[in-house]
Order: sequence, then structure tokens, then C-alpha cells
Amino acid sequence: MRRLLIATKNAHKTIEIRAILGEGWEVTDLNAHPEIAAPEETGATFAENAAIKALAASRMFAGLVLADDSGLEVDALGGAPGARSARYAGEDATDADNRAKLLHALAGVRGAARAARFRCALALAADGAVRATFDGAVEGVVINAERGDGGFGYDALFVPEGYCETFAQLSGAIKNQLSHRARALEKARAFLHHPQAS
Ligand code: IMP
Repeated sequence: MRRLLIATKNAHKTIEIRAILGEGWEVTDLNAHPEIAAPEETGATFAENAAIKALAASRMFAGLVLADDSGLEVDALGGAPGARSARYAGEDATDADNRAKLLHALAGVRGAARAARFRCALALAADGAVRATFDGAVEGVVINAERGDGGFGYDALFVPEGYCETFAQLSGAIKNQLSHRARALEKARAFLHHPQAS
């Protein structure tokens, strides 16, 4: 069993990562480690923020650490909310607040301009140093009303390319096959199996 600490308090991310990695991994997160404080996310990109989070946790934890920084980029909004996805509607915004702000920002926007993608950057750290970063993306569109109650964040507004349902309507198994997080994690998994090849 390999142990992995996910540098997040977002249980949704941990559940997805645990399901994607499957057997052979013991995955915990910062909810089990209140002594590890979440750092300020001062990076301009997903990769920078993932590295900041991985490093902060790795300095306090002996073992393998993985940090996820992710979000939604919408073409009509010049890539917003992007790295600010969690705080789009304000520092203490809930997922529902962020979805409401996104719908408002896209009122009147039609067709191809509603194209969007989820991006995920993962940073892997050990012994207080970042060893590698990985990225993944999934293309889709932002619809104009919420559909479904699975998932989290912007899932109820995002229909991935090739599907009619939102991420909140699709099963977790399907989301975990095609999501930005799954794609980045596949690269991280390959690195963990063959670190010298990357
Ligand atoms: P972070 O915790 O700073 O990386 O912020 C990530 C934010 O991006 C979340 O709070 C969600 O709003 C959004 N997000 C990231 N991944 C997903 C996803 O898989 N589904 C829906 N929203 C997501």
C-alpha cells in the first residue's frame, strides 16, 4: 500500500483522486492533519498554486504529497474564473455563489463563446521539495441553467464535449474517466511508476 497525502481540505477532490487511483493507495487529506495550515494561494497559474500547496504540506509531512489546483476557464470571459475559480464570487464564496455569478456573467452570451474547459494542475512533493507537476484539461460548454446534483463546484453548469449531460448528472465513474483531474492524475501515476522516464 503506498501512502499519499492530498494537500487539500476539499473532500470532493480527495474522493475523486482516491477513486481514480484505486486499489494499492492509502489516500488521506488535510482534514486528517489539522496541524498543516493551508498556505495563501498567491500564484498566477494553476501550476504555481499547486506547487505552493504541495510544498507547504511537504514541509510538515514525511511522505508523498500531492496538491491539486484546478478551475474553469471560459472563453467569453477571457479565461476567467481560472485560477480564481474557488473565490470567483468573493473570498468566502460558496460553490452556489460562484455558479450564480458565472450564470450572470454569461447572460446573453450564446453559442461557441460559451466554450470552456476545466484545468487541473497537480504538484507532487516529497521531503520538502516539489518533484514534478502534471496538467490535465477537459473541453466543454457552460450551459445556461444548473442541471444535476452530483459533483461539486461548477459541475452542474459544465457539459463535457461528446456528452449531453453535465458533470453533475454523469456518474462519478464517467467523470473520473474524462475529467481534467483524471487526465493529470494519469500522468502523475505514470511518473510514480517510472520516475526516471519523465
Ligand atoms: P482550488 O481548490 O483553489 O483548486 O479551487 C478549485 C475550484 O475550481 C473549486 O472550488 C471549484 O469551484 C472549481 N473546480 C475544480 N475542479 C472542479 C471539478 O471537477 N468540478 C467542478 N468544479 C471544479
